[in-house]
Amino acid sequence: MASSSRAMSKLPMPSVAMASRMLAQTPRRAIATRATAGKPQNALTRQFRRGYADEAAPARTPKPRRFRAWRWTWRLLKLSLVGGVAYVGYGTYQDRHPEPQVAPDPSKKTLVVLGTGWGSVSLLKRLDTENYNVIVISPRNYFLFTPLLPSCTTGTIEHRSIMEPIRTILRQKRASVKYYEAEASSIDPDRKVIHLVDTSDIKGTITETEVPYDMLVIGVGAENATFGIEGVREHSCFLKEIGDAQLIRKKIMDCVETAAFKDQSQEDIDRLLHMVVVGGGPTGVEFAGELQDFFDEDIKKLIPEISDRFRVTLVEALPNVLPSFSKQLIEFTESTFKEEKIDIKTKTTVKRVTDKTIEAEITRPDGKKEKIVLPYGLLVWATGNAVRPVVKDLMGRIPAQKDSRRGLAVNEYLVVQGTRDIWAVGDCAVAGYAPTAQVAAQEGNFLARLFNNMAKTETLEEDIRELSGSLNVKPGNSAEISRRIEETERQLRRIKDVKPFNYSHQGSLAYIGSEKAVADVSWFNGNFATGGSLTFLFWRSAYLSMCFSSRNRLLVINDWFKSKLFGRDVSRE
Ligand SMILES: Cc1cc2nc3c(=O)[nH]c(=O)nc-3n(C[C@H](O)[C@H](O)[C@H](O)COP(=O)(O)OP(=O)(O)OC[C@H]3O[C@@H](n4cnc5c(N)ncnc54)[C@H](O)[C@@H]3O)c2cc1C
Repeated sequence: MASSSRAMSKLPMPSVAMASRMLAQTPRRAIATRATAGKPQNALTRQFRRGYADEAAPARTPKPRRFRAWRWTWRLLKLSLVGGVAYVGYGTYQDRHPEPQVAPDPSKKTLVVLGTGWGSVSLLKRLDTENYNVIVISPRNYFLFTPLLPSCTTGTIEHRSIMEPIRTILRQKRASVKYYEAEASSIDPDRKVIHLVDTSDIKGTITETEVPYDMLVIGVGAENATFGIEGVREHSCFLKEIGDAQLIRKKIMDCVETAAFKDQSQEDIDRLLHMVVVGGGPTGVEFAGELQDFFDEDIKKLIPEISDRFRVTLVEALPNVLPSFSKQLIEFTESTFKEEKIDIKTKTTVKRVTDKTIEAEITRPDGKKEKIVLPYGLLVWATGNAVRPVVKDLMGRIPAQKDSRRGLAVNEYLVVQGTRDIWAVGDCAVAGYAPTAQVAAQEGNFLARLFNNMAKTETLEEDIRELSGSLNVKPGNSAEISRRIEETERQLRRIKDVKPFNYSHQGSLAYIGSEKAVADVSWFNGNFATGGSLTFLFWRSAYLSMCFSSRNRLLVINDWFKSKLFGRDVSRE
């Protein structure tokens, strides 16, 4: 560029203008090439002359439509990329620099929320915390995105990518919220207190205490159902919490390395490499699929000598897996599992579990029952939910709950039957819906709306009382005050008219391995069932959009790329 400007200074005045026009038209690369050739001035003059001679610029040939469409697509892509980065950047900045919080008003009611799962966190996200003194109690100081938990067992996703600290979530609220890392051991509905215990490893002088409440929301979820089958609790792994996924990941590699041990007996190699999953619901199916992927894509390549010995068996007591999905998706899943060499044993009931074997009873097509013994290296138990002790204890204290078996029976406003100021959400509540994250989240959202409305109602009622008190105090103000009372009453009627909770089913999704998924999606008034590789992309994008924060989303995307590019990490912690 320096040499070009020097060349221009030697030209007569009109020529300078022409030269600068020419320069603007000359491609930068042409100038740079000439400059490096060491004759910038001559080259420029030649170019200038040629430009002068052909004054009339050649007519541009219009670009074909095809290219125009590409150009526009490319521009749109760039624009959406910039928009996306700006959106994520702004969200992240806001998360990292929240506004100062206001202190809660001690005269307001104390609302205690038990748990930091789907139900409770959905409530907390939408609750206007300025209306209450909110206290959250949970032994888990983070929210866990459970739908991607099966992917953590094989290292497709790292566990921290699907965790969101509750402190970060609560810091985003306008009025501050108290959090206690503890387990509620009992609830006294007569005294309106919760007894809590610090169950963490490090303890202070005080490990137990009581918290009084005016309003209580129970969202403690459920524990694993073992149906009292001998040996299940002692010998199997569950898949509910992060710790469970970490344990499974360790055990898979332990089984593989032990099977590869020098001079290992053939019998033990077969047993150790036999992974059994009990429970053919979405969790069991997803885990079986992830496990087979892990073996096919990574372990097989790293330890080829054991490649023909690895087996996954899925055991289900019902006649088919994924009982809540459409018939064609069940068939699709079963045929995909056959291709993946996952053995499905339906109509099979586990009777007893020892440290190395599962004893079960299988019903043959002719109706005959047969006893089978399955030696296993890893057993994952994913059969459903049981009531937590704190919920069982509360149910025992409320006479109206005496007939309830599967959790706290609630009315259409999610109020625990037999109480006036206790609500329940999610897996611990019996409202007539399946125990899913979708239901729990919608229930939490509903309660947030209800509580926000209740607070507004109280404010409006207070306003009406004040306005009524000032009526006729000053002469001539009655018409204006009556009008304001009427308007406030109208607002009050609108707010008070809260419809009961109504669950809206969005559909069911499940990953079935080999980058395939099945989806039963609600479509207007009907249902749209689909399965395969495209559904897998839909499954991924749906779960990605449902992740709690942008941080979670970016981490999950990063994990997917990482495991695809470098393979899953097989090192055992
Ligand atoms: C592996 C897996 C995959 C799943 N995939 C899907 C899916 O794809 N789609 C779907 O819709 N659903 C899915 N689910 C089901 C879904 O996760 C649950 O239905 C949902 O978590 C229920 O929400 P919740 O709020 O009732 O309980 P949870 O989310 O289980 O939360 C319970 C909370 O209560 C706390 N707690 C426990 N005991 C106490 C106590 N004594 N005192 C105080 N707090 C306590 C816990 O620490 C936890 O924070 C999946 C579940 C699992 C395990």
